[in-house]
Amino acid sequence: MSNEPSRITDNLLNVFNYCFVETVPYAFFKPNPQRDIPVNLVDKEYHCEACQAVTKVAYQPRPLTYYSKGKLAGERQVYDKLGKPFPFMGEIESGKPFTNEAIGLCRACAARTVFTSTEPGQVAVNLAKRPS
Ligand SMILES: [Zn+2]
Repeated sequence: MSNEPSRITDNLLNVFNYCFVETVPYAFFKPNPQRDIPVNLVDKEYHCEACQAVTKVAYQPRPLTYYSKGKLAGERQVYDKLGKPFPFMGEIESGKPFTNEAIGLCRACAARTVFTSTEPGQVAVNLAKRPS
């Protein structure tokens, strides 16, 4: 029965957890050589899809970062969308510096669109993240 009081409180608890509790578990990562490829990740570029602004994020130098083959394939699609040549697998494996590319909204465009959204899910997230 969907109207039982326990279901209602369960659903309210789910909404509360979604809005206020970080539920993503942390775990130790052991690279699997069949699946994970070591990448010399040096920086990240955010490309705003609304105003085309590019924000560059410098990473602190660190040992290799592991990308799964699926994540690397997703990264290749972002490179393709941006018209940027994707490095050959041999270049990645030989430690050529690699830039993580991401497409989204910059702070100014997010303030205009995401933070003023009337879409119910986004309104809930915006209320949860509002400074108290
Ligand atoms: Zn923008």
